[in-house]
Amino acid sequence: MSQFSKFNFTGHKALVRVDFNVPVKEGKVADDTRMRAALPTIQKILRDGGSVILMSHLGRPKGKVDEKYSLGQIVYHLKELLPGVTVHFATDCIGAVAEEKAAALQSGEVLLLENLRFHAEEEKGDPAFAKELSRLGDVYVNDAFGTAHRAHASTAVIAADFPQGKKMFGLLMEAEVSNAERVLHSSEKPFTAILGGAKVSDKIEIIENLLNKADNIIIGGGMTYTFLRSQGKHTGNSLCEEDKLDLAGDILKRAAEKNVSFYLAADSVIADAFSNDANRNTVSNDNIPAGWMGLDIGPDAIAEFTEVITNSKTILWNGPMGVFEMSNFQAGTRAIAEAVAAATEKGAYSLVGGGDSVAAVNQFGLADKVSYVSTGGGALLEYFEGKTLPGIAAIRD
Ligand code: AMP
Repeated sequence: MSQFSKFNFTGHKALVRVDFNVPVKEGKVADDTRMRAALPTIQKILRDGGSVILMSHLGRPKGKVDEKYSLGQIVYHLKELLPGVTVHFATDCIGAVAEEKAAALQSGEVLLLENLRFHAEEEKGDPAFAKELSRLGDVYVNDAFGTAHRAHASTAVIAADFPQGKKMFGLLMEAEVSNAERVLHSSEKPFTAILGGAKVSDKIEIIENLLNKADNIIIGGGMTYTFLRSQGKHTGNSLCEEDKLDLAGDILKRAAEKNVSFYLAADSVIADAFSNDANRNTVSNDNIPAGWMGLDIGPDAIAEFTEVITNSKTILWNGPMGVFEMSNFQAGTRAIAEAVAAATEKGAYSLVGGGDSVAAVNQFGLADKVSYVSTGGGALLEYFEGKTLPGIAAIRD
């Protein structure tokens, strides 16, 4: 049993860093996925007879009070998610307002603090600000995987103000960390990483780190064309990062040296404009005509990638295979999502994470057919780049 699950919160005031950075439109929470992800942690503390002080950021208010980013807007929704629970709100996360409300908090109650980023000290990782926050509770729980890659006051620095045994991951953070560690450090082979999305430049570090870990690397999406160009192929108007051609060539060379099988799409669905209504064709990637652009992987690529995925025991997927937001260019991403789901059913372990691939598995209704869908975008990518995440290190040190 984990430290959090074993801990009895009776009579404790738990200061819980959550990621409630949710989209708010016209005063309403437009997508509450991140709030729901933190509920098991909150509910366990309340069930034990503890009280919960929630701290989060919302948007980028840049160290100033800005009502547009007030967490006061989401209190109504938090109450809906916690029926029967008294939820209080403090109009500042530190100072007299927060201290009085925290002191008055009863077992079984929740206090949500105002946006941490209304204070510039949060993002600066200011130790005095962290200390002020730490005084509000007697146990620190970090359940905000989405900000684990930031060395901010509430995500990392504050941990130093709590002794071992009184600082721990919450249930979401535990799950995120253990799933990511399973893929990176104890993956059953063959381990296949599927990387898509727009740009090579965003994915260089993750590809470089995975060259030392994966058996197969599958590349899809806009990134494909920079690799093809580095091989001297014509890619028409497809996305291409001219300044990354040498790097792409170097990655291909290193993959060969390390015996990593590196799969580039054999064909593409091409279009004569970046539009769902554009004229379309399917061509070999040796043969993209001038004036056309690749917007999805083609059927030969789907067949080859599906075979590799089907024979894998561990699968990491980040980034779509094409412009899946447009219905005419989503077949590749859908087919890969289905292949990952089928491999999972056969016993493979699959982790999908980092932004758009999560949106894709949700859109295709396959989120519950993969082993784990990560909530952490940037944090997950940095983890797979091989970096130490301050939010994880602060608890473990
Ligand atoms: P990323 O944030 O790097 O994972 O990129 C995701 C975005 O890449 C999505 O919005 C896709 O529409 C886009 N994308 C994927 N494939 C292509 C492509 N072949 N050409 C242009 N954009 C693409």
